[in-house]
Amino acid sequence: MCAKLKVCPGIDNCKRAQQDALSLGLVLDELYHGMQLPSKFKMAVSGCMNSCSEPAVRDIGVMGTPRGFTLLAGGNAGIRPRIGDVVAEGLDESEVLEMVDRIIEFYMSSAKKYRLGRLIDDIGLEAFKSEIGLL
Ligand code: SF4
Repeated sequence: MCAKLKVCPGIDNCKRAQQDALSLGLVLDELYHGMQLPSKFKMAVSGCMNSCSEPAVRDIGVMGTPRGFTLLAGGNAGIRPRIGDVVAEGLDESEVLEMVDRIIEFYMSSAKKYRLGRLIDDIGLEAFKSEIGLL
């Protein structure tokens, strides 16, 4: 399955934006769009907590806040929806990119053929955070 990305219009096009979602989204798109991963894998970036690109129900969701980006992992919509877990807050763009890289590396190394949220449920959020270097 290949990675897909959804991004809200960005700081130049929405007066509510608190972070530049479009700039970050373009970098993520360049790095990951079409990348083959073990299961369906969706990402979203929003410029504020209104979450128009729905980051809480994406495998990786990034949400702009007044204090930087909040990173969520393991969300999905569908028959059994799951809200992503907040794994880090107050990140700048380079910190988001580093964390996304670690999450995808861990997900690929797990070789599980199911969504990231189920993997987090299997091992537990604390263990997941530890695997990606947050604990
Ligand atoms: S999430 Fe915020 S910044 Fe993005 S389009 Fe919606 S209101 Fe605008």
